[in-house]
Amino acid sequence: VKIVAPKYIFKSGEILQNKALLFGEKIEKIDSLESLKRDFPDVEEVEIRPNSLLMAGLINSHIHLEYSHHTTEYDYGSFMGWLNSVVRNFPTLTQSISEEKMRESLKLALKSGTTTVGAISSLGLDLDVLKDSPIRKVVFNEIIASQPHQVDSFYQLFLSRLERSEELKDRKFSPAIAIHSPYSVHKIVSKKVVELAVEKNYPLSLHILESKAERDWLDSESGEFRDFYLKQYGVARRVSQIDEVLELLQKKRSLLVHGVYLNCDELKEISKAGHTVIHSPISNRLLGGDRLDLEKLEEKKIDWALATDGLSSNYSLNLFEEMKIALFLHNRRDLESFATQLLLSATETPADILGLNSGRVEVGKDSDLILIDLEDWEFDRVEKIALHTVLKGGNVYRSYIFGEEVEI
Ligand SMILES: [Zn+2]
Repeated sequence: VKIVAPKYIFKSGEILQNKALLFGEKIEKIDSLESLKRDFPDVEEVEIRPNSLLMAGLINSHIHLEYSHHTTEYDYGSFMGWLNSVVRNFPTLTQSISEEKMRESLKLALKSGTTTVGAISSLGLDLDVLKDSPIRKVVFNEIIASQPHQVDSFYQLFLSRLERSEELKDRKFSPAIAIHSPYSVHKIVSKKVVELAVEKNYPLSLHILESKAERDWLDSESGEFRDFYLKQYGVARRVSQIDEVLELLQKKRSLLVHGVYLNCDELKEISKAGHTVIHSPISNRLLGGDRLDLEKLEEKKIDWALATDGLSSNYSLNLFEEMKIALFLHNRRDLESFATQLLLSATETPADILGLNSGRVEVGKDSDLILIDLEDWEFDRVEKIALHTVLKGGNVYRSYIFGEEVEI
């Protein structure tokens, strides 16, 4: 165990002063430095920078590591334009997936204060890189299977990828499951996959209604997806409807990614089931989506967590950058309290939905912690600290995962 005594601690939305932490693999005690030194005279106090803020390590609950390369091949500006560029460039995007790029991306995530990622694994090509990284990871083995003739073989492939990830399981590597999206996964498959997630008690994630095109398609088999499917397969039939999928998900609290075009009735269902909406404002902007209505979610008591999405629809996996963009995008919200909320949306909220014993500076939680250098900034009110931390991009200089310092 060690003692750390930063100037400030961010704890559940509050700033503590004159407190220190006794921590090993877990946080053991929070008290004044004098008391901790008196009660634990043999424990070493770690050296830190003088004006430090300690907080829980960030949890980026939604990234795609496999698409970290050839990022300029994606067309930004509209969802269908982007999707068409994925299809058009599929050979280069999937056949030359670069382990080096994936490793680099994870390093940058660590460097910017992320201690856990929720990684969507579409092909299973990121598993070794994830396993080797010191970062904590929840690995969502994803299934896509829209056409009836694909259903059985794609499900078998998914099961074998899931099995492989189960072999890699350790305290930093947790297997999980993802359904790509209601438009791209047949309801027969979704049903089986949800049942599997319930049976194994794995976190479950799915992309939902990030575009108007999905809304039109799932509501009435119309809009831009109609042309897309006619061109791809010669037939254009939707393979599930939103209410069918939400009904399946009543059994399983899930991460619903984006959800920009969810309607009021759907939000009610989501609230009832206790799902968490994952908000990625940079990705939404680049893919021509609207701004997620956070007020509507909060009205319905739906939790939301901030995540970056992958480098195929973002320029960075830096969650502090995402917070800054969110701060400017949601321009009607009170600055100071929203900055605090953003820090919570990247720590406590994702920890809860991912089932992790981290994300909080609290006795008994895993010691996934970061130290931020506040340099020479002085504060007349501690309520300003969250805002300035977000504005100045974090400035993380040390990370601990399970109490062990990791190189950043
Ligand atoms: Zn995504």
